Amino acid sequence: MAKDFYTKRRRIIQTLSVLVLLSIPLRFFCFDLDGECMRVFGKDFGLSTMFYPLFTIVGLLLFVVGIGMKKGRLFCSHLCPMHMFLEKVNNPKNKVADNRKRVIILWSLLLSVILTQVIISFFQPLDNQIKLAMSGNLPIIGISLALFGGFMFLFVGYQERFCKKGCPYALIQMLLQSEFTRTMKFTNPEKTCTNCRKCEEICPMDLRARFESKGPDCTNCNLCAEACTTELGQGNTLFHFNDPEPIAPQTR
Ligand code: SF4
Ligand code: SF4
Repeated sequence: MAKDFYTKRRRIIQTLSVLVLLSIPLRFFCFDLDGECMRVFGKDFGLSTMFYPLFTIVGLLLFVVGIGMKKGRLFCSHLCPMHMFLEKVNNPKNKVADNRKRVIILWSLLLSVILTQVIISFFQPLDNQIKLAMSGNLPIIGISLALFGGFMFLFVGYQERFCKKGCPYALIQMLLQSEFTRTMKFTNPEKTCTNCRKCEEICPMDLRARFESKGPDCTNCNLCAEACTTELGQGNTLFHFNDPEPIAPQTR
């Protein structure tokens, strides 16, 4: 499938977001309880300067949420690990593979371990966690098991249903959505759609892309547009981003 610029850029942003997540267990970005400082890629911020990185993180989060008002669920398709998981397990090959369950379990285990570590090792390095667990420290054992179990439950049991019905960000995005928010629009004016259903098979959110892409569950990942190009030939797709602009008030 020919990748267009949008998808290449999305892959780069996804890779960067994974690297930032992995930097937490590797202790490049963390809270050092002993040193009472926040470590941000080689620079330590003590109690008096910690608000710099904290405000920056809050500012970045607000920026991403703000972009969502205009561009839709970009957080999901560009940054969220659940979307990366869905792109993997819901791709057309995996959807019909005999070992689909095994693939889901393996990716769920891997991501659950990583995400659990991302959260806990922000405060406590791995070697300390192991020492505490070996000495029977109940809070560290309980929190680790609860986080790991919770992530496994979401990845194995809920998948895209969590993104549609349970994710708090989806709720915020729904509240921010307006008639000016970007949607992926399907148009077929010359009746060139071959009904191949490649756009549905590729959709990580398990949507019937031709009918549901302009709804709130679409993450604007662009995979349906690429699948359609593969079917209809270079430069031909029946899916296009629609960015409605506010109409300027008429002056008399
Ligand atoms: S409908 Fe298209 S753009 Fe929307 S989530 Fe599915 S594949 Fe991505
Ligand atoms: S991929 Fe394109 S041609 Fe195939 S069903 Fe979807 S819209 Fe129609």
